[in-house]
Amino acid sequence: FDMFVFAFVERLIRPTYKKDDIVLGKKLGEGSFGVVYRVSLAKKTSSKRDDLVLKKATEYGAVEIWMNERVRRACASSCAEFLYGFLESSSKKGAEYWLLWRFEGGATLCDLMQSREFPYNVETMILEEVQDLPKGQERENRIIRTIMRQILFALDGLHSTGIVHRDIKPQNIIFSEESRTFKIIDLGAATDLRVGINYIPKEFLLDPRYAAPEQYIMSTQTPSAPSAPVATALSPVLWQLNLPDRFDIYSAGLIFLQMAFPGLRTDNSLIQFNRQLKRCDYDLAAWRRSIEPRATPDQRRGFELLDLDDGIGWELLTSMVRYKARQRISAKAALAHPYFDREGLLALSFMQ
Ligand code: ADP
Ligand code: MG
Repeated sequence: FDMFVFAFVERLIRPTYKKDDIVLGKKLGEGSFGVVYRVSLAKKTSSKRDDLVLKKATEYGAVEIWMNERVRRACASSCAEFLYGFLESSSKKGAEYWLLWRFEGGATLCDLMQSREFPYNVETMILEEVQDLPKGQERENRIIRTIMRQILFALDGLHSTGIVHRDIKPQNIIFSEESRTFKIIDLGAATDLRVGINYIPKEFLLDPRYAAPEQYIMSTQTPSAPSAPVATALSPVLWQLNLPDRFDIYSAGLIFLQMAFPGLRTDNSLIQFNRQLKRCDYDLAAWRRSIEPRATPDQRRGFELLDLDDGIGWELLTSMVRYKARQRISAKAALAHPYFDREGLLALSFMQ
């Protein structure tokens, strides 16, 4: 009840926005379901932020607003800060949903990964202390580990709230300059199974480059879910049975792989990797056996990085990228994986 009152009061005192408040800036992205702009405000006021992002969305925007409101209350630090969403009906194209977020920063993980400097270009943004280490896998591993921890932390927040993102990829992970952490964006394909929002119509939107082999999360087992946020007692049970969150874990595992292997950072090489992995029946160890004998120097460095500390990174990676959702590690368990423990120990030994 307290949460309800809190949410209600919060909605009342929060700044609201309307079309005339907003001045469009640069276009940041355009998908088939909306256009995203950087925007500012026509009149600057002390209570309203001036550096914002606007998404003009089609009918699917309603669910995206709902997801963002829920994240805002339950796990705000996981995602870009959502400010307000409304139905804008005066547009020429007919009714659109307008969604506003704080502008978190100018780079997604995708942008950062495209740089030849990666992961060093991220280093100064997130952890200055490793700069004392010589350049090499040890140092790169620490940066990648910090990024992975932040992604898993954000995912754990979403999953603990009951939300499966379903479109986890470097393009949907933004670097927040203020908090100096990576946050998740784009809840346009997300589904909330605990309260019965399972947005099957958008299933075809899933990005095949990062999608886990099961692709159609629960759509075969789940009876058609209510389209309004109606609580159902069934959902937590279904969650336990199907572990839909593991879909995001698979995608996050592919991001881990791309960070370790520069050669897998382009779309084409990732698509080719997916084909190879499928041929290996989604067995990463088999994929490794097929690659390693003829590995390029870059590939060898990737394996070496994951093999540091008795292969603890490789162990985590292989527990994320598995064919069966049930066998994949959860975000919470991944955060407790020894891959992340070692950091404290190594930092100590390094200081001595
Ligand atoms: P789409 O449905 O087009 O993929 P996204 O929500 O992913 O929409 O946003 C598109 C792009 O806009 C992102 O890849 C990112 O570059 C930028 N962007 C989105 N939200 C923010 C934000 N809060 N702060 C800064 N940039 C953002
Ligand atoms: Mg996106």
